[in-house]
Amino acid sequence: MKMSKQAELDKIKADIAEQNICAELAKTATQLVFGDGSPDAQIVFIGEAPGKNEDEQGLPFVGAAGKFLNEMLSGIGLTRKDVYITNIVKYRPPDNRDPYPDEKMAFLPFLRSQLEVIKPKLVVTLGRHSMDSLLPGLQISKCHGQPKRYKGQVYLPLFHPAAALYNGAMRQTLVDDFAKIPLILKKIN
Ligand code: URA
Repeated sequence: MKMSKQAELDKIKADIAEQNICAELAKTATQLVFGDGSPDAQIVFIGEAPGKNEDEQGLPFVGAAGKFLNEMLSGIGLTRKDVYITNIVKYRPPDNRDPYPDEKMAFLPFLRSQLEVIKPKLVVTLGRHSMDSLLPGLQISKCHGQPKRYKGQVYLPLFHPAAALYNGAMRQTLVDDFAKIPLILKKIN
């Protein structure tokens, strides 16, 4: 019998732990933060790495940046249950440092597997770390808010909600870019 999408996602999560991916990060983190939302989502949001709150709760985007993300979702008539949210790196880096290139590389096959299971219409990258991992060679300052088709998948690069949260101009840009999502999705469908 074919596994359900949720069972396939659970298997990917178990594989990360079993294969000791980024064992050093795993040692300092509380737990693996794999993903949240619907396995049938049309939109997948990809952030950078868990922070303190995410590490404690085991869910992505549950701190201040997550609250802002929830607000923007609600602005386009969606909740977290309608979409799927994850990060490129799945353990909290110590002291919230930026993830290292080798850490992003190590998690990339698992992120790709998540996307293969969910098969979203649109992948929204939040910040440059997830954008660089999936769409090489772009500059976030130039390409934010513009959908890109790459290898058969449509992506929308956005600023990171944590970076935009306390920066008035960037915040407005992110809110404006985010508001384009329904039309982009409609055009894909
Ligand atoms: N920032 C991220 O990139 N991911 C989270 O899960 C939380 C904050």
